[in-house]
Amino acid sequence: MSNIAFIGLGNMGSGMCANLVNSGHRVVAFDLNSDAVSNAEKAGAIAADTIATCVADAEFIITMLPAGKHVHGVYFEASGVLANANANALLIDCSTIAVAEARSAASQAQTQGFRALDAPVSGGVAAANAGTLTFMVGGEADDFARATGVLQAMGQNVFHAGPSGNGQAAKTANNMLLGISMIATAEAFNLAAKLGLDAETFFNISSKASGQCWSMTSYCPAPGPVPSAPSNRDYEAGFAVAMMLKDLRLAQDAAADSGAVVHLGDQAANRYAELDAQGLSSKDFSVVMRHVEQRTPAD
Ligand code: NAD
Repeated sequence: MSNIAFIGLGNMGSGMCANLVNSGHRVVAFDLNSDAVSNAEKAGAIAADTIATCVADAEFIITMLPAGKHVHGVYFEASGVLANANANALLIDCSTIAVAEARSAASQAQTQGFRALDAPVSGGVAAANAGTLTFMVGGEADDFARATGVLQAMGQNVFHAGPSGNGQAAKTANNMLLGISMIATAEAFNLAAKLGLDAETFFNISSKASGQCWSMTSYCPAPGPVPSAPSNRDYEAGFAVAMMLKDLRLAQDAAADSGAVVHLGDQAANRYAELDAQGLSSKDFSVVMRHVEQRTPAD
């Protein structure tokens, strides 16, 4: 049993916090939104009304926040984590933020005597609630070893990706691949349909042939072949277009910083930006299927 502070009890953090409680940890929870704190309390966490009270006795401080600026604010503001925590507490940021932001947060924390890990997740809200997330962790090996048990209470797969920022690097490269492969899958199903193949027939063949990929077999953007996919419920309740766009922009920034060429990543970002501008930002990102169907050669 560990003393854990949890900051950021939104769509993802609420389920993660509940799973830590259910694993027997003592969890003190904080969010700017008091309803989110009340819900965490109902799930068995101890409510905190400031970051200072949240982190006071913590051995592990987990953050699950919207973006890098929130993480830096929560860590380094005068009323924030580093000003109020014990220096032997291990900082674990599970938010999706830029590789450079994760590296600078860890090195600033280190200069103040703290150890920090970046530990972004793959899996979405359903996996956060079920405790089946995949964690990609960047930081020192001994800190990773110390955090593993805590992360396993929230996830099924926990990977050490290397030094600080490498967790975010794995996440950003993975999600760029996902964003591209979803568009490619939508284009393939649309082409097959135009050539006279229905979605079931094309799925049965391509899912056993060399075009097979996760976007097809677990999340098919064409309605029908994969009953659990958001395409069968009007592209509601999945991984939002806005989230995919955020991740693709992080990948573009990381590519610019590192000199990597990501032409398809750039095109994918433009495509999701168009969906976002069309008011589809809260739809599942596989809604790109509709966009592909509606486009004409002149577009
Ligand atoms: P969310 O917006 O639902 O939750 C974020 C929470 O942080 C909110 O409750 C907000 O009130 C709180 N918050 C913001 N600033 C704060 C501050 N200064 N102090 C305390 N609390 C603060 O977001 P989410 O969907 O839970 O996503 C969280 C992170 O996980 C993001 O970085 C996202 O990219 C990543 N992620 C999300 C998903 C997903 O499917 N939702 C999947 C993988 C990764």
